[in-house]
Amino acid sequence: MPQLSNSQLTQIATQFGTPVYVYHAEKIRDQYQKLTTAFAGQNVQFFYACKALTNINILKYVKSIGANADCSSINEVKMALLAGFEPNKVLYTSNGIAFAEIEEAQSLGVHINIDSLSNLEKFGQKYGHSYPVGIRLRPNIMAGGNLKISTGHDKSKFGIPADQINQVLSLIEQDNLHIQTLHIHTGSEIKDVDVFVKGIEVLFDIIPLFKELEVIDLGGGFKVPYKKNDHETDIALLAQKVGEAFANHPNPSGKPLQVWFEPGKFFVSEAGYFITQVNVLKQTEATTFAGVNSGFNHLIRPMFYESYHQIDNISNPGGEEKHYTVTGNICETDTFAWDRQLPEVNEGDYLVFRNAGAYGFEMSSNYNSRFKPAEVLVLGGEPLLIRKRDVFEDLLKNQVEVL
Ligand SMILES: *Cc1c(COP(=O)(O)O)cnc(C)c1O
Repeated sequence: MPQLSNSQLTQIATQFGTPVYVYHAEKIRDQYQKLTTAFAGQNVQFFYACKALTNINILKYVKSIGANADCSSINEVKMALLAGFEPNKVLYTSNGIAFAEIEEAQSLGVHINIDSLSNLEKFGQKYGHSYPVGIRLRPNIMAGGNLKISTGHDKSKFGIPADQINQVLSLIEQDNLHIQTLHIHTGSEIKDVDVFVKGIEVLFDIIPLFKELEVIDLGGGFKVPYKKNDHETDIALLAQKVGEAFANHPNPSGKPLQVWFEPGKFFVSEAGYFITQVNVLKQTEATTFAGVNSGFNHLIRPMFYESYHQIDNISNPGGEEKHYTVTGNICETDTFAWDRQLPEVNEGDYLVFRNAGAYGFEMSSNYNSRFKPAEVLVLGGEPLLIRKRDVFEDLLKNQVEVL
């Protein structure tokens, strides 16, 4: 498994300054190859869920290795097209959006998954049979790392509840809708492959109702390891079980069904490193704080999802192990890790957060009027700046001074 070395990371921190997000291109390629290798011989396509990380260079790189793109907003659709993806390699899986955005996506020629009866009806009235479309169903399955990232359960806002299938069928009949895809995405960090199999089984019950079906889209949510010996989705087992499930359930229409997946985290999580620098050490009775030059304005996952990120002191990797509470510098509690064992930390040391590629930079903000970090892509061993750090003018860019 390729990894960037401490010396490469230190060199990047020195050259580009901190805080900085670093992405390792070849690791993204390796992850994609794991998928294509495991599913070799099956009729499967992978759409990178680009909301995980949308830097245009990442999109171009993902395109260059042969994957497709899954988008969560019309702007992501436009970014994917700008990056060079053909419209038929782009999928727009929307939630709660205005119909106008669906019309725009239709005009761009991309695949669309619709997730409400209301928008499905509008789509049918406007396009009838002329534009094949997918529907996102809510299978009423509880899955995923925690409630915030679970999307398929019976209280989730996502998808058309599977028990409203009769209303879907009447809309199809009423407007002669051309349903090409059935989509489910049950959540993120699904380590148990049987969740996907359960999802497929929910779909097999209703597949015969859709005469023009060509695609079963099983969404994303593959779990990646966050530390040594951590669970990850067993992709080979998943491929085997998906293959078996479809072998046992041929499409009643006779057309072979294609399977789509939309992994986001799986593509980019482990490829990303977030390098920060220690501003202050503060000893208290409770703990020793190592305060870095960042906060949840740059990496919100620990505070928002209680996610674990391995932290390495790359300035003193051989130092004596001690306990530190790693926090940021914003005026808000922004704990990255409580009482974490780290090699002795000194002010000025570089602390690196791992698994920072997915939902890291992408969820960052200018809270506390701090700059968003720079982004660097390491490609063929070469570090390339792919986003400049903000400058002061950026904070005022869209403000309208009326006083
Ligand atoms: C967020 C999302 C994904 C990707 O989820 P990961 O956990 O990053 O794999 C895939 N499909 C849809 C519809 C999503 O909303």
